[in-house]
Amino acid sequence: MSEAFNAFEMVQKQFDAIADKLDLNEAARDFLRNPLREYHFLIPVKMDDGSTKVFKGFRIQHNDALGPAKGGVRFHPLETVDLVRALAMWMTWKTSVVDLPLGGGYGGVICDPHHLSMREQEMICRGWVRQLGDNIGPLRDIPAPDIMTYSQHMLWILDEYETMHGRKYPGMITGKPVGMGGSLGRTESTGYGLMFTVREALREMGIRPDTTTASFQGFGNVAQHAIKLYNQLGGKVVSVSCWDQKTHSANAFTKPDGINLDELLKISDRFGSIDIEKAMDLGYEILPGDKWIEMECDILIPAALENQITMENVDKIHPRVKIIAEGANGPTSPEADEVIKKRNIFMLPDFLCNAGGVTCSYFEQVQSNMNYYWSKDEVLSKLDVKLTTAYHKVSELARKKKLYMRDAAYMIAIDKVVRASKERGWI
Ligand code: NAD
Repeated sequence: MSEAFNAFEMVQKQFDAIADKLDLNEAARDFLRNPLREYHFLIPVKMDDGSTKVFKGFRIQHNDALGPAKGGVRFHPLETVDLVRALAMWMTWKTSVVDLPLGGGYGGVICDPHHLSMREQEMICRGWVRQLGDNIGPLRDIPAPDIMTYSQHMLWILDEYETMHGRKYPGMITGKPVGMGGSLGRTESTGYGLMFTVREALREMGIRPDTTTASFQGFGNVAQHAIKLYNQLGGKVVSVSCWDQKTHSANAFTKPDGINLDELLKISDRFGSIDIEKAMDLGYEILPGDKWIEMECDILIPAALENQITMENVDKIHPRVKIIAEGANGPTSPEADEVIKKRNIFMLPDFLCNAGGVTCSYFEQVQSNMNYYWSKDEVLSKLDVKLTTAYHKVSELARKKKLYMRDAAYMIAIDKVVRASKERGWI
């Protein structure tokens, strides 16, 4: 989220390149390179100290030709409207490529939950949904948790919405606690989904997972569950990096025999930061955080932030690397992407390989609307089918037309939304 980096410009650039490949007409381009609807509003909150603070909130619906919009709500001090626009647009392509009957939206509030009490956060959640009124809901736009928002926030938003509308709408939001309309398997879904696509890529390359190694940037929800499944497949993780709240810097943790997930989980906090001293006691070598990209391994998994593989570090990728699987949204700059393409590294693009979360959110919505809940195994096996099917559709097109995987995924996703918009008579 640096000032120079504008995620919306990046996602528009990616869209323009595919619009040329698909030979889209001007109306389709104008319609899809910008959001369909945007809501910008202010949320005044009575703070615990008696003062009133005004927060800025957004909800952006990029496109809903395939179904109601769907996407996260992010609480972050560096939130910008362009970042929300980019995330909404990525959601449109993400739901489309995995074949969900949903569109793309995103929202957020500029705030720092580290400096807000739970009561103040509750007031922000309730204020956010009051401003949106009827413009979200199970048949219009279904929010979900994202950075620094959790199941508790979703429940406050749901409760306020149900109070406003005088009836129960369990399917108006996802990421609810299990037992309160949440789905089993949601916690694992993004990391597992990512690893399902890596597993399929290795299968197509004729490489056994238990002969491979990987390096991760990030040790949060996505990375932890991806590592769990990767270890079960026999893969060895040579390094993980994470942010340290005390030193305000990133560190990479490595061990010659591979990191041990269970022991690192015991010494990490809920923000995915690993305790440096305890890790050293366990025999880990601590390197600067940016070393994750230089590791000798087969698979690189950026699962922390956007704009992490850039022209400044792309040449440091080890010659052994065969696959990059983008756990985070937008971790690779378009310029660095070109270098990766030329080096023939197999790219699993973000909106395909991290779509497990939204797929499971969709399953949650279906279960909530039916008020009937599935077992965890059922959820995860349905997730495997969805992600594996989407992977093979993209890979088949990439092979047939000799396309880079990101381009093939975009072509499938954009073409589907263009066709739906045309068939509805919009463009
Ligand atoms: P999280 O907050 O649980 O974890 C983030 C991790 O990144 C933490 O370990 C943190 O220490 C680390 N980190 C932060 N800055 C870093 C830096 N400069 N260098 C190294 N590590 C750093 O987040 P998450 O839910 O795991 O999400 C990670 C990424 O995946 C985000 O981009 C998110 O938008 C994306 N994503 C998440 C989901 C989901 O379901 N959680 C779904 C799709 C995409």
